[in-house]
Amino acid sequence: MKKTFAVIGLGRFGGSICKELSREGMEVLALDLDETKVNEYREIVSHAVMADSTDEFVLKELGFTNIDHVIVAIGDNIQASMLTTLILKEMGIKMITVKAQNDYHEKILNKIGADQVVHPERDMGRRIAHHIISDNILDYIELSDDHSVVEVKAGEKMGGQTLIDLDIRAQYGCNIVAIKRGKEVIVSPMAAEEITKSDVLIVIGADKDINRFEKHLV
Ligand code: ATP
Ligand code: ATP
Ligand code: CA
Repeated sequence: MKKTFAVIGLGRFGGSICKELSREGMEVLALDLDETKVNEYREIVSHAVMADSTDEFVLKELGFTNIDHVIVAIGDNIQASMLTTLILKEMGIKMITVKAQNDYHEKILNKIGADQVVHPERDMGRRIAHHIISDNILDYIELSDDHSVVEVKAGEKMGGQTLIDLDIRAQYGCNIVAIKRGKEVIVSPMAAEEITKSDVLIVIGADKDINRFEKHLV
């Protein structure tokens, strides 16, 4: 059986989730308080309804108990976001993803029992900041509060040297897990692998170690 989804809140974030899920052929129930938003998504998703997600009775009537994964994408109204999450949790929804507005909101959502809390503005801000620091930093993914993965262009500083020459693990505590070279991907490279300046390195490590690596080699 195909998984079913519901998206509550059709702002830019919830809206793009709806569009992408629908494009992938998924069944999506989209819900918003705002009638114009609902009309905007009527042609895009399987079902679009105007309703208040803080009304438990309404959610039950709409058949939310049968939905596998609910995404709560209510932005500014933190109270509505928390109450909605709580109701969904009490209804026994198996997977609830919620967009958090700030760190306090996130803490409460975790306590209420949200299965996944996302922070798109903060995370995208961080990724862009790393991108701005150096043209060679291509991407940045947060693994936990203090560990990340970065994608960097080797550049002049690392080009022409082997991993042994650079001694990255010993000097910076980070690991190169893969090297992208044109269309080729070298997973778990050998220590003797020579890096070329146009290689893209996938580096994993603690944030403090990655910062030192970025400062000295990128
Ligand atoms: P984004 O940053 O993703 O664009 P936004 O900042 O526009 O979102 P809001 O407008 O605060 O975020 O919220 C997103 C949507 O959630 C809005 O369209 C709003 O109508 C809807 N919404 C807010 N409260 C409720 C509720 N109780 N039930 C259903 N929808 C709600
Ligand atoms: P280690 O004890 O750090 O695993 P090692 O004695 O096994 O090192 P090699 O695997 O030959 O030695 O690698 C020598 C050095 O080259 C390592 O200490 C490390 O600094 C660096 N190095 C090798 N492979 C990587 C990698 N994938 N990512 C980062 N650094 C590497
Ligand atoms: Ca917003």
